[in-house]
Amino acid sequence: MASRVLIVHTGGTLGMGMPGHRRLDLQAKEHLDRLVKQVPELLEIADCELISPFNLDSSDINPGHWTQLAELLVEKGGVGQAGEGYDGIVVIHGTDTMAFTASALALMLRNLDRPVVLTGSQRSLDAWRSDARANLASAVEVATMGLKEVVLVFGDVILRGCRAVKTDANSYRAFQAPGLSPLGTIGTQIDVDWERVRQPSGPFQLQTAMDQRVMTVPLFPGLDAARVYDSVLASESHHRPRAVVLQAFGVGNIPRLGFLPLVQALGEATIPVIVGRQCLRGHTDLELYPGGRSLLDAGVIEARNMTYEAIIAKTMWGLPQPEKSLQDWFSENIAGEVNLH
Ligand code: ASP
Repeated sequence: MASRVLIVHTGGTLGMGMPGHRRLDLQAKEHLDRLVKQVPELLEIADCELISPFNLDSSDINPGHWTQLAELLVEKGGVGQAGEGYDGIVVIHGTDTMAFTASALALMLRNLDRPVVLTGSQRSLDAWRSDARANLASAVEVATMGLKEVVLVFGDVILRGCRAVKTDANSYRAFQAPGLSPLGTIGTQIDVDWERVRQPSGPFQLQTAMDQRVMTVPLFPGLDAARVYDSVLASESHHRPRAVVLQAFGVGNIPRLGFLPLVQALGEATIPVIVGRQCLRGHTDLELYPGGRSLLDAGVIEARNMTYEAIIAKTMWGLPQPEKSLQDWFSENIAGEVNLH
């Protein structure tokens, strides 16, 4: 019996009309026919059905859409309900923020029971020499293969969704998972490294609340700590962010003059500070230098080797779950987003 795959089309370049990147009506009944006409192999790979909850450039997608999407995957896709719904789900998504959505879905759909595969393309299906056809066909095929993870399929790789980063604005190899080799490769055949694919470690859990009141401070030499202080702490407390992500240097270093007092003031205002790194690879190690150690004394949270996308998603996801502190959520590996040691 053919596998059943639900395609959830959320927008992005893949489904746009050429010339001129026009938005097509993805709700239209004919949209699936249009996809099948352009990617006829879909019919051979699986029985596909298509829904489109929204049609957006992914720059316009926000945490509310992540919640909507996760709930849709449960209601329409059968995710988390053994024997219900589809064998796998493909989410067609714009490439610009696909890694954020993948990170959020991986956390929201904890202990996932079937493949959720995000894909998109750099050129639309209508465009000549497009990457869209191959990406879509590969994504649907991967969705039939039983991986119980949120993955991103793009070009010739299958990446863990919560480790993926868009690293190239133009290339057909636009995504990488820095520090984690692909879970699979796509060539004449699709090879999955099954040893490294995650298995659910408990019952499925849907947790879709997100608190988007998060602010990031990318450090640079010369950044004035007083300005950062003003923009975070000078406003009334109900306007303040609920967490601050510091994108620090190297293994998590900050200019101690100015920034250490700022971090201490944030601590006093009970605003958690998450320290990430600007380097794509490697991990934070705040024990290594005196500056980092003073940050630890001030109670900051180390992001280790999490991507920026995963840090943002995990912070928004952890804040509305008061049964654990953000510090505790960050010391757990929920969906393969971090290496803790
Ligand atoms: N701006 C588009 C988007 O992210 C780019 C793409 O799909 O590749 O929606």
